[in-house]
Amino acid sequence: MVYDVAVIGAGIAGMTAAIYARRAGKTVILFEKESIGGQIALSPKVENYPGFKDISGLDLANNVFEQAMALGAELEVDEVKSIERAEGFFRIVSNYGAHDAKAVVIATGLKHRKLDPVTKLEGQGVSYCAVCDGMFYKGKTVAVVGGGNTAVSEAIYLADICEKVYLIHRRTGYRAEKAVMERLYSKANIVRLENRVVSEAEKADGGVSLTLASTVGEADEKLAVDGVFVALGHIPQNSAFAALINIDEYGFAASDESCLTRTPGVFVAGDCRQKAVRQLTTAAADGAAAGLAAAKYIDGL
Ligand SMILES: Cc1cc2nc3c(=O)[nH]c(=O)nc-3n(C[C@H](O)[C@H](O)[C@H](O)COP(=O)(O)OP(=O)(O)OC[C@H]3O[C@@H](n4cnc5c(N)ncnc54)[C@H](O)[C@@H]3O)c2cc1C
Repeated sequence: MVYDVAVIGAGIAGMTAAIYARRAGKTVILFEKESIGGQIALSPKVENYPGFKDISGLDLANNVFEQAMALGAELEVDEVKSIERAEGFFRIVSNYGAHDAKAVVIATGLKHRKLDPVTKLEGQGVSYCAVCDGMFYKGKTVAVVGGGNTAVSEAIYLADICEKVYLIHRRTGYRAEKAVMERLYSKANIVRLENRVVSEAEKADGGVSLTLASTVGEADEKLAVDGVFVALGHIPQNSAFAALINIDEYGFAASDESCLTRTPGVFVAGDCRQKAVRQLTTAAADGAAAGLAAAKYIDGL
């Protein structure tokens, strides 16, 4: 059988693409290598998805999944390893087999670079996204770990919400653009802690107690905060598809407004693509655009 659309990744972007392609009358196979819902399934609380004042990430993901399945999308729990071009279709090669489809939506999302000592406290005071979770720390004290543009921007964003923000970096000097650095210097409630790494973390008094080790031979310090934001960068999950799509220096996939890549019939949606805002709403928006564009592409074959 040749499916109309193969969707790779059952995060919000991929599941939305499946919904739109099914509603356009196309057969859909949806691949997922880990767990349904992608990143958001790990979040205990979502407060910025329109239509829900407060919902757990898992409940939100399950709702979208049930909707996609009720419309007739087929799920394949398997990791896609590559996409090969064939005569008039694409062959989706996964760990346990191969499936053919006329169009493909890559919605593989990203992984956040982890900070080993705090990983055990994910969802219990440790976050990877200031826009997502910053409001939970309104008026409180947080730490941001990282030294690049993302870390500095997250610290600036949090400074407008939190009472105090510690910005912890293992080196001297941050690797952010000049304009971003100027905004950082203008924030009186950001305390820059350079030449330090987080060596240990534990739960304490409703927050997190960090041990900071010096990279220049000073003594260890303890730092008590309400929350920790890890901003060490992203790893988009696109590398397996480099033969068909353009990938930038940060690993993100290039595409046009309709989510089309350089290969006709291959689309990208969600956090894995180049864009300014990586949120649930934009993942869903990409999924809608890619699902509809894939259906239109098939109609034109
Ligand atoms: C802890 C946390 C809290 C967040 N809170 C919010 C919030 O409150 N509000 C908000 O708007 N956003 C929030 N976000 C961001 C939001 O979750 C992402 O923007 C959104 O999930 C992106 O969806 P996606 O479908 O593009 O990618 P993902 O959610 O990353 O899903 C991609 C899926 O593809 C699968 N996959 C990858 N490669 C393959 C492969 N080769 N084969 C098969 N499957 C594959 C992955 O396993 C994954 O399930 C949060 C993120 C995190 C981590």
